[in-house]
Amino acid sequence: MKKMLVAWLVSLLPAVVLAQESVQKPEVPVEKWTAKTILLIGAHADDDAMSHGTLAMLQAHGNQIYIVTLTTGNVGTQDPNLSRTQLAQIRREEELAALGELGIPGGHYINLGYDDGLLEFEDRKAVVENLVRSIRKIRPDILFAFDPGKRYQRWHKSDHRTAAYLAADAARAAMWRLLFEGQIIQEGLREYMIPEYLFYDSAKEDENTWVDISEFVEKRINAGAKYVSQFGPGWKSYKPNLSETELKQLKESVRESVRMKNGKPIEGFRYYKGLPDSIGK
Ligand SMILES: [Zn+2]
Repeated sequence: MKKMLVAWLVSLLPAVVLAQESVQKPEVPVEKWTAKTILLIGAHADDDAMSHGTLAMLQAHGNQIYIVTLTTGNVGTQDPNLSRTQLAQIRREEELAALGELGIPGGHYINLGYDDGLLEFEDRKAVVENLVRSIRKIRPDILFAFDPGKRYQRWHKSDHRTAAYLAADAARAAMWRLLFEGQIIQEGLREYMIPEYLFYDSAKEDENTWVDISEFVEKRINAGAKYVSQFGPGWKSYKPNLSETELKQLKESVRESVRMKNGKPIEGFRYYKGLPDSIGK
């Protein structure tokens, strides 16, 4: 009897595994999303670049996209002649230019103004409160954020690790009316639960959703080439305008960053549905 029960349970295993796999993908493929509100939270003005093909596609398909960046990016340079103030300004302009290539309006870019490189030492409650405010205002159907999964349990660029955790913490806090209730009582906002997530920069083995960006590769390249201060010669010696050859080389290096899967250019994510505390699916 016991053996039969074990055999019966084992026979169910593939179905259970299949069921789990099926809920780890969006019910409607990302390529078919339309009329959704999408919020991407990143640490720096270019963290959205690894999702640019997907964002360009979602923008073209009639979704509303908002980008919230935590830091001004005012440290990321090897150019000895740039000040923090200059770099913050340059990075803002580069981000707006990149978003322009994707068709995302400049008014949808929100920078929370923290200093680059030291995000983990900021007042975490204040950062979460600011992110909660953005979430309650924008009320996204989907949150794009750094994956707070195992890749960030290991050492990694600290701002990314911090942005991963604080975005997830803010997503959880936003749904509780009595957390940051001043936003509700005094600012007229309402609590909000984000229903779905696409985590980017996941460990490759954690990815479960791959978006075909075939039609949007050129937009990704043109947008990526706007980050002159970060890539190519601008990293060591910034100048606003590259020569034709330099620009071509920069675009080529962005093209090389495009991942391929089954012969198609893709961007990979970990899709997650449910409450941001691992009790979702
Ligand atoms: Zn970054």
